[in-house]
Amino acid sequence: MDIHEYQCKELFRHYGVPVPDGNMAFSPDQAASVAEKIGGDRWVVKAQIHAGGRGKAGGVKVVNSCDEVRKITDHLIGSTLVTKQTGAQGKLVNRVLVEKAHNIDKEYYLGLVIDRLTQRITLIASEEGGMDIEEVAEKDPSKIISERVDPAVGLTDFQCRKIVSAINIEPKYFGSAVKLMRKLYRCFRDKDALSAEINPLALIDGERLVALDAKMSFDGNALHRQAEITDLRDLNEEDSKEVDASGHGLNYIALDGNVGCIVNGAGLAMAAMDVIDFYGERPANFLDVGGGASPDKIANAFRIVLEDPNVKVIMLNIFAGINRCDWIAEGIVQAIKDQEINMPIIIRLAGTNVELGWEIMEKSGLKYIRAEKLDDAAQKSVAALRELKS
Ligand code: GDP
Ligand code: MN
Repeated sequence: MDIHEYQCKELFRHYGVPVPDGNMAFSPDQAASVAEKIGGDRWVVKAQIHAGGRGKAGGVKVVNSCDEVRKITDHLIGSTLVTKQTGAQGKLVNRVLVEKAHNIDKEYYLGLVIDRLTQRITLIASEEGGMDIEEVAEKDPSKIISERVDPAVGLTDFQCRKIVSAINIEPKYFGSAVKLMRKLYRCFRDKDALSAEINPLALIDGERLVALDAKMSFDGNALHRQAEITDLRDLNEEDSKEVDASGHGLNYIALDGNVGCIVNGAGLAMAAMDVIDFYGERPANFLDVGGGASPDKIANAFRIVLEDPNVKVIMLNIFAGINRCDWIAEGIVQAIKDQEINMPIIIRLAGTNVELGWEIMEKSGLKYIRAEKLDDAAQKSVAALRELKS
């Protein structure tokens, strides 16, 4: 789960990671009053969306008066920001962060991420921070250094100092940089984060290091014990189909292919996507209807899959253990009738009450393509799609 920059900075404040003075605003007036409260004569107005690359897309503006704060906020809120990370459709801006502006002397990169290969939290840093870190990673990877954290020991001062000197932070800032890293690590561990990124970590006004940008992502499987983080969820930022699905106990992830998938069990759903890909087409989604798939759940699964205009063919792959094929079949029949679906539907049923399931499908008089095995289902789905395409 992702959160907004302003929420992340709130969290940082709580943990003692230095951030600029600032606050979030929903409207131009609110933004101007935040600027007044902060004081000074220069502010930064930053669009709050769950995506980076805002600077280059016009989502971060430095201004010199409260009037300009108001104007820029008015321009940003309600606009769609297209950045390198949003995809072509962009993201709608609903709020901004207004902060005190500082003079930046140097921009560093600092991140923590769980490295799945080593199963370790890994500290990543670079002296070439700022808006082009992706390019640095591509063209000069030696400029990016990392340090693995042993979970039994935690992040040590020694490791922090090693990183700090490797990215050429001046020795007089060593102490504060090490403290900052340790606090970031503490926050990361406490909150079950998957990643934390400060880009840029900036040396400002020739005197101190602050997190000018802040981004964190949290483990969805740990949210049950992270009420404070769960409260930060902004459903506007998430795929509406995914939100809709989770409200009905379905696990749905939107993808970019043409074969809509309805499967029970996450492992089987992954396998189904792989086999479709193997035969040369792409799945339109991941969808796990879970264990006790009631007719209602199946109907919702169809509805959500069909909201995607790229879906041209639907493949159902049900292996009933806890489920029963007859219940599933009833759900399928009801959904196809209610939603007047008229695209190729490929069905594979196996497991508990499978004969009963097929019987219900036969009796319904509906048009569908029967498949015996996953492989067969994928091949028939791909064939049906190719026929439509030709
Ligand atoms: P991103 O492009 O979405 O990663 O947004 P950032 O928060 O990183 O902002 C982009 C750039 O705006 C930063 O790299 C800075 O150069 C600049 N910026 C952000 N905050 C300030 C500030 O307080 N003062 C000045 N002068 N520039 C800032
Ligand atoms: Mn940034």
